[in-house]
Amino acid sequence: MSTDTPSLERYSRQMRFHGVGEAGQKKLLASRVTLCGCGALGTVLANSLVRAGIGFVRIIDRDFIETHNLQRQVLFDEDDVAANLPKAEAAARKLRRINSEIAIDSVVADIDHTNILDFVKDVDLVLDGTDNFEVRYLVNDAAIKLNKPWVYGGAIGSVGQTMTILPGQTPCLRCVVETSPPPGMAATCETAGVLAPTINVIASLQSTEAIKILTGHLETVNRDLVYVDVWDNEFRRFKISKLKDKVDCPCCTQRNFEWLDGKMGAHTTSLCGRNAVQVAHRSASQLSFASLAETLRGVAQGQVSHNQFMMRFTAGGHEFTVFPDGRAIIKGTNDIDRAKTLYAQYIGY
Ligand SMILES: [Zn+2]
Repeated sequence: MSTDTPSLERYSRQMRFHGVGEAGQKKLLASRVTLCGCGALGTVLANSLVRAGIGFVRIIDRDFIETHNLQRQVLFDEDDVAANLPKAEAAARKLRRINSEIAIDSVVADIDHTNILDFVKDVDLVLDGTDNFEVRYLVNDAAIKLNKPWVYGGAIGSVGQTMTILPGQTPCLRCVVETSPPPGMAATCETAGVLAPTINVIASLQSTEAIKILTGHLETVNRDLVYVDVWDNEFRRFKISKLKDKVDCPCCTQRNFEWLDGKMGAHTTSLCGRNAVQVAHRSASQLSFASLAETLRGVAQGQVSHNQFMMRFTAGGHEFTVFPDGRAIIKGTNDIDRAKTLYAQYIGY
């Protein structure tokens, strides 16, 4: 054997599987994937991809590791928390020890409409490891525009969902979920909690879809919206393929990329000298203070108070002032990324 060619021995059990083989393994090694988000779903995805021999993996995440992440974010440990490492960097260090043959591009950044195309344009596939619909719609716009397959995944509590988007062949995310729930209407991991097995099931389905797509087995790709409740033992498949071309989708039919164009999504500013950040959302509907107060019960520290004009509560050590249009002022930080994370955690979008 030439010393220039890395041995395929480490992949021998995967190559023995009929759907992969040596030819499939070589395709995986030549493949490039972008992973958006490296939290719960993202760490399980990255672990699977790198061990499977996906040749290039770009990992994008804006957050740092906290102790309460360790329950489910499988690539991190207590040393990473103590070292105050960003998730993308800690993941890359761990993954390079797992498989040094893989090129890992760790990016500590907030994904937004100004950078998503650059993150996606040079890869074969995009995987969703995020916890919010804003990034998912951005990924969806970018993937449809650039004709890249992507795999959606989401998990909360004991419930998870996934679907695979093959541009031009299957419905896109907006064909199925045209608008995200307005801020405050969606449960988050902070408000509803999450079981690690929920994450592992969904990320495992997503990883398998990645292997199918990258080895060229499009005929076996999942064409349904898959719904799993690991607590109540529900496994459902929603037939969504008929939605393709039936709904007048703003994204894949009209090719009106509203998220990519910056017409939708958050608009965040640091409030100078106030140690506070304002996070605004271009949301069509009004926030329901009553339902947000309900989701914050047991999560907020102290009283959650609201009148018709504003709502105030403290969570995660920060005071939130929230307005009916979804805008929030988060005190105790000047860090825009941190404020966006807090918004996603306690208000949700
Ligand atoms: Zn669509």
